[in-house]
This record gives sequence, structure tokens and C-alpha cells, in this order.
Amino acid sequence: MKIKRRQFLKLMGASTAMFALWEFNFLAEVEAVVPSLRIQYAVATPGICPYCSVGCGITVHTDPVALNVINIEGDADHPINRGSLCSKGSSLFQLVGNTQRVTTPLYRAPGTNTWQVKTWDWTLDQIATKVYNTRNTYFETALDGITVNRLDAIACLGGAALDNEEDYLLSKMMRGLGVNYLEHQARL
Ligand code: SF4
Repeated sequence: MKIKRRQFLKLMGASTAMFALWEFNFLAEVEAVVPSLRIQYAVATPGICPYCSVGCGITVHTDPVALNVINIEGDADHPINRGSLCSKGSSLFQLVGNTQRVTTPLYRAPGTNTWQVKTWDWTLDQIATKVYNTRNTYFETALDGITVNRLDAIACLGGAALDNEEDYLLSKMMRGLGVNYLEHQARL
């Protein structure tokens, strides 16, 4: 069938109107069944992921009534990451929202299978005492007539949960003690 130009324009107009009507109904139906977003009334605060020097932008959503963090996600407007986060950055919300997060030092005495909750003062005293005694016992000043000033009895393993400043201070302290074996588990 041959369609004239005027008929074609009428057909297109009718099709467009039908599609617009269908889309309007469709969106109304979707809005009726989809629950409102959890962050609908949240306060959005821009921030920077604390974990590594890439410096990805994040958005922290806070409940304005309860004043607690309810969501952390990549900042879509940030020029570095444009909304994406690596696996470490994606877990940022667990820093504040994970009820299973360990928040106190736990100590398992030699020969036992149970953990005891300890204070930070007790824990730091234990670590300082062990480091002090180990260094006094094993620090080497020279080997085969060559000055080495090293401590091979202690190794240091950094972790992905450390930020840049903590890593810097840790490596400075370890080198000050003479520790050579410094490693980090992150392989980003
Ligand atoms: S840890 Fe991941 S999300 Fe955080 S700044 Fe580095 S690359 Fe970005």
C-alpha cells in the first residue's frame, strides 16, 4: 500500500501520542509498586575514600533524624572515579554499619582456645614490652665486619584497612627499629 506524505505524518503523530500515553501509564505503575529509596530524605555529604592515594570521591548519606550513616557510595560527579569504587572502597559502609565488626582487642593466651576481651592500654603495653625485649635480644649492629644495624626477628605486615598516613607512620617506626621485612597485603 502506498502512503502519502500527509497520511504518513498523521500516522506518526498518532503513534507518538499512543507511545507517550503508554509510557505515562507504565511509569505510574512502576512508581506505585517500587518502594521509596532508602536515601530519599538523607543528607548527602561528599567525601574522599580514606584507603589509598587514588583518592576516589564518595557520597555519605546520613539520616537527618537519627544522625547515623545509612549509605556510602561512589560520587558520580567526582572526576577521578565517576561513581565507581574498588572492592575496598565499596566496603566503606561496613566501617560504620557492620554490627559484627570487632571493636575491642581480643587476646588468646598460649595453649588456650578462647578469646578474652582486653583494654587498649593492656594490649599496647603487651606489644611495647614484646617489641622492646625482642629488639634488645636480636638487634644486630654488624655482620662479618660490616655495619648492618638491623632487626630480623620482627616483620611488619600492613593491611588494606590502613590509610596512607598510618602506613607512613608504621613504616617510619619499623625502619627506626631496624626492621627490614616490611610487606603489605594489598595488591591493587
Ligand atoms: S581504595 Fe579503592 S575506592 Fe578507595 S581511593 Fe583507592 S581505588 Fe579508590
